[in-house]
Amino acid sequence: MCYANAVSLTWSCRLSVAEYAALGRRAPAPRQNCPRCARPMAFDGCYRRCVREAGTVHPIFVHRARCGPCGRSEALLPHFVCRRRHDSVSSIGAAVLARHGVDLDTGASGLYRGVPRRTLRSWYQRFAEHAEDLWVRLEALTIEWGGTLPFPPRYPASPSKAAIQAMGELWRAARHRWGMDIPAAWPLANLVFASGLLATRVDLPWPIRRSHIGWFAPP
Ligand SMILES: [Zn+2]
Repeated sequence: MCYANAVSLTWSCRLSVAEYAALGRRAPAPRQNCPRCARPMAFDGCYRRCVREAGTVHPIFVHRARCGPCGRSEALLPHFVCRRRHDSVSSIGAAVLARHGVDLDTGASGLYRGVPRRTLRSWYQRFAEHAEDLWVRLEALTIEWGGTLPFPPRYPASPSKAAIQAMGELWRAARHRWGMDIPAAWPLANLVFASGLLATRVDLPWPIRRSHIGWFAPP
């Protein structure tokens, strides 16, 4: 349920952005083991940030966890948060999918309502820059999870389209392996990339264990 990178741990959150925000400081977070030494980490306060979705800016509290022996403190990010981005991963995903001509549910464009054009352009650009890395890693993980890739291989019109297809293949592999109770495709991809789907560097924590995928159920 939780993925680590150098600065944060990302966990699968059943709550929507609005539901999480409504809980304020009482919003849940899973207790974690340190990604370096595997010892249990202690909660270490929280900080405030905002997540925009569907034209609403939600102030949220992000908990932190600290490992005493390593002396490191990490943010515990719910998987709808994209690092260094103001908008939720679902908002970003809806915009990028629409950009690439993917048919979306009615109302999906409302997820990125009010997002400035320059912000949209920055999403498209960053996604395109890393699309090939995303594509390769997502396909590798699909195989790791027992999924299948199309054969003969498809040759998408662009690396961005290939990455989008690979997200779908990963989601189908996860669903086949763990059942329907998994995050949607873009949140799942953001989860496995530790909230770094649009980060400056694509990083896929490895190996990925089953416990990483299930939802965190707060006590
Ligand atoms: Zn540690």
